[in-house]
Amino acid sequence: MMHDITSSGHLLLIVADGLRPDVLAECLDQGDLPTLAALRTRGSYHTVTASFPSVTGPAYVPFLMGRHPARAGLPGLRWYDRARSLSWAPAPARSYAGIDIWHVDRDVDPNIPTLLELVRPSLSAMSMLARGASHGRIGRSIAWMFRAAPSHFRGDLEGWRRVEQLATRHFLERFAQVRPRLSVLAITSPDKFAHQRGPFADIVRRSVQDIEHAAASALAIATRDVWRDALHIWVVGDHGHATVRHHDDLHGWLESESLRVLAHPGLFTRRADVALMVGGNAMAHLYLTPGDRTRRWWPDHEPRWHTLLMRLLARPSVDLLAVAESPTITRVHHAERGAARIIHQPSAHFALERWSYAPIDGGDPLCLGGAHAALDASDAWTVTEPSPYPDALVQLSLLMTSARAGDILISAAEGWDLRARYEPVTHVSTHGALLREQMLAPLLLDVIPARTPQRTADVAPSALDLLGVPGTHAFEGRSFLRAR
Ligand SMILES: [Zn+2]
Repeated sequence: MMHDITSSGHLLLIVADGLRPDVLAECLDQGDLPTLAALRTRGSYHTVTASFPSVTGPAYVPFLMGRHPARAGLPGLRWYDRARSLSWAPAPARSYAGIDIWHVDRDVDPNIPTLLELVRPSLSAMSMLARGASHGRIGRSIAWMFRAAPSHFRGDLEGWRRVEQLATRHFLERFAQVRPRLSVLAITSPDKFAHQRGPFADIVRRSVQDIEHAAASALAIATRDVWRDALHIWVVGDHGHATVRHHDDLHGWLESESLRVLAHPGLFTRRADVALMVGGNAMAHLYLTPGDRTRRWWPDHEPRWHTLLMRLLARPSVDLLAVAESPTITRVHHAERGAARIIHQPSAHFALERWSYAPIDGGDPLCLGGAHAALDASDAWTVTEPSPYPDALVQLSLLMTSARAGDILISAAEGWDLRARYEPVTHVSTHGALLREQMLAPLLLDVIPARTPQRTADVAPSALDLLGVPGTHAFEGRSFLRAR
C-alpha cells in the first residue's frame, strides 16, 4: 500500500552532518528542540545505516541519489584515479577535504540523477553534492569558499558556524521566494565540532540548535505564505562519530617498509609502489602499483603483496582488511577472527541482487555467527544490523568491487584513525570506518513509514514517493513509504 501522498508537496531535507543518532535523540528528549520534537511526534524517529566509507561527501550520495557512493563514482573522501578518468585534475587523485570539493558534482556518474534534478524547482545550501539544483547551490561559489576557508583551516569553530548561519539565512530567503519542491540544507557544524571536542560535547549539542532554527524558520515562512500543509521536513545524518585516541601514521609506516608512497598532499611521488588514500580518517584505500592503469584482482597481487597484507593486519590500528578476489567476491580479514568471503550476485534490478557470507576455515571477521546464503539487500541489512559492523555485507562488497576502489581496503580499529600528518587540527573524534558508532545515522521523519527505514539510501526513493514523483530510476534504496 502506498503512503498517502500529495502531488503538490514540498520536501525540505536537512542534513545533520556527523550528528550521532543518540545525541539527536537526547536533545529531542530534553526539550531543547521544540520544532523538531513536534515533527517527531507527528512522524517517527529512526536509526539507519550510512554508506561505507562513513564520510561526508560520499555519504551524501545515498540520500541524494539512492545509490551506494562507490557505484556512483565516489569510493572515498580521498581516492586515486587509476584509470585516469578525471578530466580536470593536476594529479590523478581526489581529496574532497580540500579544494576538490568543487569537483564532487562532476565526479559522480552523470547518468544517475540526483533528487535535485528529479524534483524541481530545487535548491541546496552547504551540500557536498548539489548537482542539478535549479535555483541555486548556496555555499558552492568562490566567494563562499573564501569566507569559509580561513575558519576551516584554523579550526575556528565559531567562525565556521557563523559562515554556515549566513548560508542558512541566504537559503531561507531563496526558500521563501522559490518555494522549492525539493530543497537540501546541510548543517555541518555538528561534524566539525565533534572532530575537535568529541561527539558528546556541549558545543555539538548547541550547534543542533542551528537545525532547529532552520526547521522553525522554514515552517514560519510556509505558514505565513499559506503553504504549510504542503511542506514536509525530514532530517537525515550522513555518518556517525566516535572518539579517537590514537592516530596511526600509516604513511610513515609504509615508507619504513621501503615503499614509495603517493599520498595527499604530495601527489607527485615518482614510480610510487602504493597510493595511500585515507578518508574519514578511519578508513583507507591502498592502491598497489598505481602506475598501472588497469585494476587487477587480488590473486594477481598475492605473490608480491601478501606479506604486506599480513603485516598490515597485525597493526593495532587495523580492524578489518578487505581485498577483491574478482568483480563479485570480496575477502575480509580480521587479525583474531580470521577471514571470510562476501559473494555478490549482481543483477539489473537491485531487488534481485544477493549476498552470501562464506567463512574461510571457520573464520568470522564480521561476527555474523557463521555462513549466510543468498540474502537480498533487506535481509543482508537485517542479519548485520545488531553486529559490530552494521550493513557490512552490502557496503563492503559494493565498495570493494567498484571500479575506483583501492586494492586493499582498511577499516580502522576502535579508538584509532589512520592519518597523523598534514591535518590542520588534531581530531579527538573520527569516522570513516565500518564500525557501529561511525556507521549509524539519525533519520527524523514527519510521516510514519510503512516499513522500517534501513539505509540512508532509502531516503531518495521515499522522497519521490512522498512528492508523488514517479520513481523511474533503479535505486538501491527502498522506499519506506511502501509496505512492499
Ligand atoms: Zn567529519
